Amino acid sequence: MINTLYPKRCAICDNALLGSEKGACDKCKERIVYIKQPICLKCGRPMTHEGEICEECTVTKHVFAAGRSVFSYDFISESIYRFKYLNRAEYGEYFGYEMVKAQGEFIAQIKPDAFIPVPLHKKRYVKRGYNQAALLAYEMSRLTGVPVMEDFLKRSKDTVPQKKFNKKQRFINMKKAFIVGKNGVKLNKVIVVDDIFTTGSTIDSLSLELKKAGVKDIYFITLTSAGT
Ligand SMILES: [Zn+2]
Ligand SMILES: [Zn+2]
Repeated sequence: MINTLYPKRCAICDNALLGSEKGACDKCKERIVYIKQPICLKCGRPMTHEGEICEECTVTKHVFAAGRSVFSYDFISESIYRFKYLNRAEYGEYFGYEMVKAQGEFIAQIKPDAFIPVPLHKKRYVKRGYNQAALLAYEMSRLTGVPVMEDFLKRSKDTVPQKKFNKKQRFINMKKAFIVGKNGVKLNKVIVVDDIFTTGSTIDSLSLELKKAGVKDIYFITLTSAGT
């Protein structure tokens, strides 16, 4: 009865799922577009030329060690919009599952001490009711046994959404946006979890803070990467 009144929705097209479908509808599962190999071994984006590291990563000295994304941006961006802004917290379960399915080997190689979801500023958290990155991280944790450290890192200022800025402005916008609380926890290797990797300025900025707190290697996994 409850199922008929509030059917679960496909995390990709948002249509109601049939009883036999889980996470995404069968039609969508057939048309999923993942990020294509070969990828840059640093940022995880598809390579457009020969080599191991993309042009962008050759020019920019990233603070993070390496990262991977799962879906092609064009394929998943509308769905992520609903996940973040239209109250579709329920997508988190399927997305977290896909992140582990696609990057299980990456996670196993790293053997992280924790997953760290990119924190939302409190104001935004209250408005949205959930942190989409934390939803992803908790599902990934459930499937891998890696703990989530949600409070290790905090947002120190409510930044303007990055999409309004160019690369240089993004870096300035994100400067000192994060702070590590005094918690006495020692972490060596962590995987930061977020929905979108854009220029890397968010992950680089929080990686700087994590390094100050003694974290040696910072990796990331995101649902998607802009321009893919
Ligand atoms: Zn669908
Ligand atoms: Zn790269």
